[in-house]
Amino acid sequence: MLRLAKDFLALIFPSRCPLCAGARLNAEPCICSKCMVALPRELNYQGLHNHTCQRLYGLLKFQRAFSYLQFSKQSSVQRLLHLVKYRGQHQLGRQLGKWFAAEVLRPHSDLYEVIVPVPLHPQRQKLRGYNQSRLIADGIASITGHQVVDALIRAPKQTTQTSLDRWQRFQNTVSEFRLVEHQAVVNKRILLVDDVITTGATIVGSGLPLVAGGASNLVIGAVALTQER
Ligand SMILES: [Zn+2]
Repeated sequence: MLRLAKDFLALIFPSRCPLCAGARLNAEPCICSKCMVALPRELNYQGLHNHTCQRLYGLLKFQRAFSYLQFSKQSSVQRLLHLVKYRGQHQLGRQLGKWFAAEVLRPHSDLYEVIVPVPLHPQRQKLRGYNQSRLIADGIASITGHQVVDALIRAPKQTTQTSLDRWQRFQNTVSEFRLVEHQAVVNKRILLVDDVITTGATIVGSGLPLVAGGASNLVIGAVALTQER
């Protein structure tokens, strides 16, 4: 009965898709099907044609790396991630994780057993009240059935980044991550999850303590990969 009432209300006051502003059915999670199908997918071939691997090669020891969508400025993907990061759209964050898992990660689920989200800057986490990478990780876990562990923290130094050159900034970011849940990662195959990969500094910074802490395998997964750096 409640379902019927909800469907009736949706007919009179349809939900809107945040991307195209068109009507969205109850059965369409977060955005309309047309916009969902049109999201630009990243290529996830193995080897040289995998752009995520290309971005990270030589910076970190990992087994496989995947990105779900292509991120460019003013794109629909940027708008979606903005809604998750700055507008508190938790359901959308989890839904992006679900789509990523269903389309890309699930066939490789034997490569990992624990999902670890990239931690947020502590001040940002306090202001925002949530970590978008954790929402994405939870969405992935709801499809693959794996456990999510907040195994890392980000402990930034007090130095200002503005006086540093690009490489120094990269190194500075990389050195900010610490492992706090050793037992959860030792001898475990880990899927490390981030929202967007740009230079790769946050992935490298998060991945190094996992490997040093005894993770037996590291797989990288990001919802989006920037197309221009
Ligand atoms: Zn739409």
